[in-house]
Amino acid sequence: MSLIVQKYGGTSVGSTERIKNVAKRVAKWKAAGHDVVVVVSAMSGETNRLIALAKDIQAHPDPRELDVIAATGEQVTIGLLAMALKEIGVKARSYTGAQVRILTDRAHTKARILEIDENNIRRDLKSGHVVVVAGFQGVDEGGNITTLGRGGSDTSGVALAAALKAQECQIYTDVDGVYTTDPRIVPEAQRLKTITFEEMLEMASLGSKVLQIRSVEFAGKYKVRLRVLSSLTPPDLPIEEEAKSGTLITFEEDANMEQALVSGIAFNRDEAKITILGVPDRPGIAYQILDPIADANIEVDVIVQNIGKDGMTDFSFTVHRNDLKKTMDILKLVCAHIGAREYIGDDKCCKVGVVGVGMRSHVGVASKMFRALAEEGINIQMISTSEIKITVVIDEKYMELAVRVLHKVFDLEMQ
Ligand code: ADP
Ligand code: ASP
Ligand code: MG
Repeated sequence: MSLIVQKYGGTSVGSTERIKNVAKRVAKWKAAGHDVVVVVSAMSGETNRLIALAKDIQAHPDPRELDVIAATGEQVTIGLLAMALKEIGVKARSYTGAQVRILTDRAHTKARILEIDENNIRRDLKSGHVVVVAGFQGVDEGGNITTLGRGGSDTSGVALAAALKAQECQIYTDVDGVYTTDPRIVPEAQRLKTITFEEMLEMASLGSKVLQIRSVEFAGKYKVRLRVLSSLTPPDLPIEEEAKSGTLITFEEDANMEQALVSGIAFNRDEAKITILGVPDRPGIAYQILDPIADANIEVDVIVQNIGKDGMTDFSFTVHRNDLKKTMDILKLVCAHIGAREYIGDDKCCKVGVVGVGMRSHVGVASKMFRALAEEGINIQMISTSEIKITVVIDEKYMELAVRVLHKVFDLEMQ
């Protein structure tokens, strides 16, 4: 008998009707002989509502208390789903992150999972229960409730699948797989039957919301078989059909397949750019700027340093928009200390990138991308590349245009 972990996102559990459908789907997999662990998100809109409540009280909510509040969304859904399963005759038990003991570090609102205690889950599975676990949350050494960052239920699902050595982790969502780009922005986007793990990692790091980046990192580290599929198909869809549907994240590139030059376009609106002007150009300066930011647990992404002139240089980098204020506060001290002339924050930019393992063996992807953007009059503010990705930072007002144009230029409608 095999063990599968299924994760259902916010839209998939967005109403009691939908939760009943999830119960039917889970019951189908259980009846087919699988042990099933289900991870659920809060009902759609709920986490936003909870965060807004907190912000009504405190403009910059206390992180520990914010986690206490935000984690309640998932607690409601696990109870509802466990009840819906019992209603149709399936034995089920719900668990919060703390009850499982999903141990995390202490970084409130973006905690990392350190360890998962399998004992309770294994015992319940053995006695024939479906185990329903709250996504997005854990507990630190001190017993404080933590959350894993927006979209974190994906990571809960994959981490549980890794800990339990599940046969597959199925991410059920409101689209039927991973597309060449977000189908909400480009309706012509095509579903990919497979995507390599590396490509998925780059897409997620660029902000493709369909999988949280940490879930992909977990899948890579522990070789979890990961599939993204739709929760909106009829729950009684034949299991053989459902098992093959959606997009499989593969660990090997298909040697028989002619690799497309570009597999997908991803983007992220939640970016902020910081430019420091008049930085003394001497060894250790990048370290002196970025180390205090890393110490504050802020992730820095695209980094550009100009060629120095007259002993001075300019330095720019991007952070998540939520971290802009905190970063600017840190820079006030840092810039005074290193003697930089000024620093400017810009929260009107976004990131757009093209991803594809095919880039390894082809030249000219960058120039094709830059020409397409230039023809639309889109100015590139920053560029960063990896072997299989080219990212640009541009004005956020051009984001959708850039995505549409690049999708077309790289022939992704015909995938
Ligand atoms: P869930 O609530 O199930 O976790 P999310 O809203 O977090 O769902 O993620 C699913 C959404 O991701 C889709 O509705 C789609 O708009 C968006 N998305 C962004 N990029 C892609 C992509 N490349 N393929 C599929 N969906 C994408
Ligand atoms: N409910 C959380 C969020 O909205 C986690 C998730 O849905 O994955 O971010
Ligand atoms: Mg999500």
